[in-house]
Amino acid sequence: MRKSEFVLPEGMIYLDGNSLGPLPKAASARLQKTVQDEWGQLLIKGWNDAGWMHQPTAIGERIGRLIGAPAGTVMVGDTLSIKIYQALAAALAMRPDRRIIVSDTGNFPTDLYMAEGLINSLDKGHELKVVPAESVTDAIDESVAVLLLTQVDYRTGRLHDMQALTEKAQAAGAVVIWDLAHSAGALPIDLQGCKPEFAAGCTYKYLNAGPGAPAFIYVRPDIVDTIEPALSGWLGHTAPFDFSLHYQPGKAIERMRVGTPSVLQMSVLEAALDIWDDVSIDEVRDQSIELSELFIQLVESRCSELTLISPRDPQQRGSQVSFAFDEGYAAIQALITDGVVGDFRAPNVMRFGFTPLYLDKDDVRLAADKLVNVMQNKLWAEERFSVRKAVT
Ligand SMILES: *Cc1c(COP(=O)(O)O)cnc(C)c1O
Repeated sequence: MRKSEFVLPEGMIYLDGNSLGPLPKAASARLQKTVQDEWGQLLIKGWNDAGWMHQPTAIGERIGRLIGAPAGTVMVGDTLSIKIYQALAAALAMRPDRRIIVSDTGNFPTDLYMAEGLINSLDKGHELKVVPAESVTDAIDESVAVLLLTQVDYRTGRLHDMQALTEKAQAAGAVVIWDLAHSAGALPIDLQGCKPEFAAGCTYKYLNAGPGAPAFIYVRPDIVDTIEPALSGWLGHTAPFDFSLHYQPGKAIERMRVGTPSVLQMSVLEAALDIWDDVSIDEVRDQSIELSELFIQLVESRCSELTLISPRDPQQRGSQVSFAFDEGYAAIQALITDGVVGDFRAPNVMRFGFTPLYLDKDDVRLAADKLVNVMQNKLWAEERFSVRKAVT
């Protein structure tokens, strides 16, 4: 769709945009401009004159459009782990009489770890109940304070039914938080229609804003003014430059800000979002399904050793396809050496992301051929491919 707008190294087919999106060409120039013309020339004046202070709010509006959130409901900043903590702390405070947080074993560990850390610091006897994905619906009852889920399972790509689970949880009186890490920029999301209280996500996966790019948080507008921010940083204060001695939360979504925004990363994010201005997320979704179906068909028909662990129905999965294989780590390393970048998730998952912004059917055919070659000729058996690196 927009392949020419990305830096894609010669000879590499990149099937890992679900983990770290590639560099949009315009982002380098934008970063240079921010560094040299703004930071370099304006220095401290950049906060006002280059709009740095307003950037997290302005970018939030643009991300909001990609996830079906109304104006004024999304704030950008910090990392997703922090945004999950913020959302969960606020959600638990909304249900002071309840103690149970429900999540699932397909959730990304940091979400669960942040919940554990928060439970420990609150020390009020909260309990994190982590159930298999298919049992989430049965785990929802009137004891549940918060339902904390990631829509797309990072290992298998399995997609939760956001609407049905949100409705069930809210009918039981629970507060709902959706992690959209593998959803934003991959599939259509309708927060306004679905009505969860909170959502959060990151921008370095499908939104291509680079390593360490800031996260985003959404709070439903009818409750945002009642939220007591647990991370009561000065930039979430109603009047940061009054420097008063006590915290008073800012207006609406502004209270979800914490400290100084990462201006350089924000400028990259702005450039990355320009690409989305005239791309339809429905079209991205349709094409990602086409690409993933093609890949599954080409691989399954020729590699009996690989077991598809993603849902077979494309409507039940996000934008990634995963196969289980005991020597999956070595197989991915062999494949990367041959120019096809996927990744590996313990214990045995080979994971491939399909991102039509910069991938087409020819890429997918070639990637499948190379994977088939690795498997049929057992290229993974070479010793050098089984040495584990720090990041898999
Ligand atoms: C990628 C991902 C994260 C990462 O959190 P960071 O704080 O950005 O490192 C968190 N949750 C989920 C579900 C993810 O997929």
